[in-house]
Amino acid sequence: MTSPLPQDALALLKRLGVSDAVFASTGLSAHSPITGETVATLKETSAAEAEAAIGRAQSAFLLWRKVPAPRRGEFVRLLGEELRAAKDDLGLLVTLEAGKVTSEGLGEVQEMIDICDFAVGLSRQLYGLTIATERPKHRMMETWHPLGVCGVISAFNFPVAVWSWNAALAFVCGDSVVWKPSEKTPLTGIAVQAIVEKTMKRFGPEAPAGLSEILIGGREIGDILVSDHRVPVVSATGSTRMGKEVGQKLASRFARAILELGGNNAAIVAPSADLDVALRGIAFAAMGTAGQRCTTLRRLIVHESVYDALIPKLIKVYASVKIGDPREAGVLVGPLVDEAAYKGMQAALSEAKAAGGTVHGGERVTVGTGGFYVRPAIVEMPAQTGPVARETFAPILYVMKYTSLDQAIAIQNDVGAGLSSSIFTLDMREAESFISAEGSDCGIANVNIGPSGAEIGGAFGGEKETGGGREAGSDAWKAYMRRATNTLNYGTTLPLAQGVSFDV
Ligand code: NAD
Repeated sequence: MTSPLPQDALALLKRLGVSDAVFASTGLSAHSPITGETVATLKETSAAEAEAAIGRAQSAFLLWRKVPAPRRGEFVRLLGEELRAAKDDLGLLVTLEAGKVTSEGLGEVQEMIDICDFAVGLSRQLYGLTIATERPKHRMMETWHPLGVCGVISAFNFPVAVWSWNAALAFVCGDSVVWKPSEKTPLTGIAVQAIVEKTMKRFGPEAPAGLSEILIGGREIGDILVSDHRVPVVSATGSTRMGKEVGQKLASRFARAILELGGNNAAIVAPSADLDVALRGIAFAAMGTAGQRCTTLRRLIVHESVYDALIPKLIKVYASVKIGDPREAGVLVGPLVDEAAYKGMQAALSEAKAAGGTVHGGERVTVGTGGFYVRPAIVEMPAQTGPVARETFAPILYVMKYTSLDQAIAIQNDVGAGLSSSIFTLDMREAESFISAEGSDCGIANVNIGPSGAEIGGAFGGEKETGGGREAGSDAWKAYMRRATNTLNYGTTLPLAQGVSFDV
């Protein structure tokens, strides 16, 4: 027997070091999609409090930028240690608040630990270049400096990992961080803030007050972060609608935007594909997290010669996948986040039917007494029409046939979003074509794995309506620093570039 969910969540918050001061009798209600219950009511950040928090972060930045980068790395190493210690509790809290199955809740915290490890190494590798200069007795180089306050706005579906992809890098880069988590997942945000505060205490006075701030509330509070001139970079993760609003506001004040927006990800199954690998890859990518990942597989483009060998098997897997309380062993598909997500899914299915689609699954499933659970849907479509061209944040997989690879790639690229993509093929020419300049136009292009489940070592993000931002690995750190090009003259004359003469 499990104890009632709200008590479990409150006990976890206590164990994670969250103080009772965050709760209030009126404010932002935190729900669990597992049962639909209200878990707690939280004090919302007022506009004045948000501005004060940004001010504290700005003051913290002025001190933090002077701490040597490897020392800042030591702070992030301690943060990783605290996250390791908190992994089970925080992972379960992610499950309770976002509805992810247990292994995915834990996986999300593991991703936070991984990015901390990455950032610790990075703290000794914030390299600039030395560049050949045309002028004698001169040296030219570039240096990377801390940028300022980094705003982070995150979505409900990765309630803690997205913060860490940004914050772990921002901290080692010498920035302070102000975070506005999703209004649908404030509890995990508050728990992470408590873990950071504990880490700051362990690290000592070198970590200034205000290094990490959190704002609780909806988009109005996010807007304060976006509009404040003291915040030179904002990383915003969420819908393309949100990105359009936020991106334009940031551009109007020349602030840097790291936009991580919606996806409409496809996989191509070629004639030579290993269909067993494809089946497993498709099932995880399309049904995992109940279709609520930005990288969820939403469009399957199958060669006509393998369509009949693959699709009936896939329909069977969909019909038998275990849907239920995400805390239960064996459950692979948990709840949708809320009723609006359920209604959006049903509307898309009706639209697909009207556009000539044949729907398998998609019906509501009763689990306990509340929550919105659905059987993931496969929709066989005659063409890429109706709702197929847009992201519906629910487990719907649209399936289409193709005859030539060029046609498949054209279908794959013919949508607004450009986040993730993949091809299942054992043909080396097809694989290379797919990841070449003439292939997928997405930020992520995979071969023989699905489009979801990225590791932190690579730069994460996408093109077109996905926003163009990159987070996590590779050289994504550069977005959190400012670059200065320095030219030094150690000679006794003053030769000018391009042979210009200016004798005075
Ligand atoms: P959402 O756009 O409704 O909200 C995301 C965040 O933006 C929330 O914190 C919200 O309060 C804030 N926000 C919304 N409008 C704002 C505004 N005008 N000004 C300031 N802040 C604003 O998204 P959601 O429903 O929470 O998440 C699902 C969406 O996020 C999907 O489209 C999914 O693909 C996308 N997503 C993308 C990535 C990625 O890395 N590309 C990762 C996760 C989720």
